[in-house]
Amino acid sequence: MIAFGPVPSRRLGRSLGINNIPPKVCTYSCAYCQLGRTIKMQVDRRAFYQPEEILKDVEEKVKRAREVGESIDYLTFVPDGEPTLDINLGHEIELLKPLGIKIAVITNASLIGREDVRDDLMKADWVSLKVDSIREDVWRRINRPHRTLQLASILDGMLEFAKAYGGKPRCGELATETMLVEGVNDSDDYLKEVADFLAQLRPARAYLSIPTRPPAEKWVQPPSEEVINQAYQLLGKRIDHVEYLIGYEGNAFAFTSNVEEDLLSITAVHPMREGAVRKFLSRAETDWPVVHKLIEENQLVETEYGGKRFYMRKLHGGDEL
Ligand code: SF4
Repeated sequence: MIAFGPVPSRRLGRSLGINNIPPKVCTYSCAYCQLGRTIKMQVDRRAFYQPEEILKDVEEKVKRAREVGESIDYLTFVPDGEPTLDINLGHEIELLKPLGIKIAVITNASLIGREDVRDDLMKADWVSLKVDSIREDVWRRINRPHRTLQLASILDGMLEFAKAYGGKPRCGELATETMLVEGVNDSDDYLKEVADFLAQLRPARAYLSIPTRPPAEKWVQPPSEEVINQAYQLLGKRIDHVEYLIGYEGNAFAFTSNVEEDLLSITAVHPMREGAVRKFLSRAETDWPVVHKLIEENQLVETEYGGKRFYMRKLHGGDEL
C-alpha cells in the first residue's frame, strides 16, 4: 500500500500519507528511528515505484475520502525511509498537483546538497528538514549516516534551499524538526548551535520532538520536561515560532471551553509561563486549583527556567506525523 490515511496530524491537519520508499531504505540509521535499524543504507537516488502507480493509489484514496466526506489538507511524503532517495519525487509531486491538495515532504535533508534534490523539494508546498545537530560527532552518533555523507555539504544545501524556498514570493512553507535525545544532543551548548543555524534557515516553524515510540536502540531516552523547556527557550530566543511534538495531539488553537482540556492542549505545544496560565484561568473564570489538580493527576508538570516558573504537558507516548 503506497497511500495511507487520511490521518490527523498536528502539523498538517488531515494528512494522506504517501509511502514512496519500501521499508526501510534510508541514508541514515538514526538511533531513535521508530522503524528499527536501516535494512538498506544507500545514497544513490533511484526509482522505486512507477510514478503513475503512486498517482493511481493516491487518487483512489482521495476519491474514497471525498465519498465519505473526509477532508484532506495535505498529501504527505512520509515513507518508511528517506523520500528524496526516490529519483521520481519531483515528477510525482507534479503528477499529484492537479488533485488540488497541498503537498508536503518530511525529509532528513541528507541529500539536500544535491541540486536535483533541492529542485524536487522546491515543488512541494511544505517541507520539513531534519536538524538534530550541526556537530559532526553528535550527528554521527544520533543519525548514523551513510559513510559517504558529509555534514558540511548537508548544512550548506539546507541554507541554499531555505534561501530559495523562502524567497519572495514565498514558494512554500519551511519547517524544521529537531529530535532531542537525552545525553546526546540536549545540552545547552549543542542547542545554542542548532538555534543559530535554524535562525539562518528562518523556518516558518521549528519543531522540537522526542522519541515517543520504541527506538532502534534501547539506550535512546527522551529528555526530561525540564530539558525540553530549556531547549524551547533557547530556540525561542532565535526563532519566532517554536513548537514541540511530545506525542500528544494538542491543538493550541481550537478551544473546547473545557478549561482542563484547553490548558493541556496549549501546554502540549509549548510551555506556558505562570503569568500566562493565571491570565488564561481568569479569562475562563476559574482559579489555580485546576493547575494543582492536573499536576496531581500527573498530566501537567511544573518546571523552572531563568528564574521563572513554566507549565507543560507531561510527556506521553504516541504517534506524530
Ligand atoms: S531518517 Fe527517518 S527513516 Fe531514516 S533512519 Fe532516521 S528516523 Fe529512520
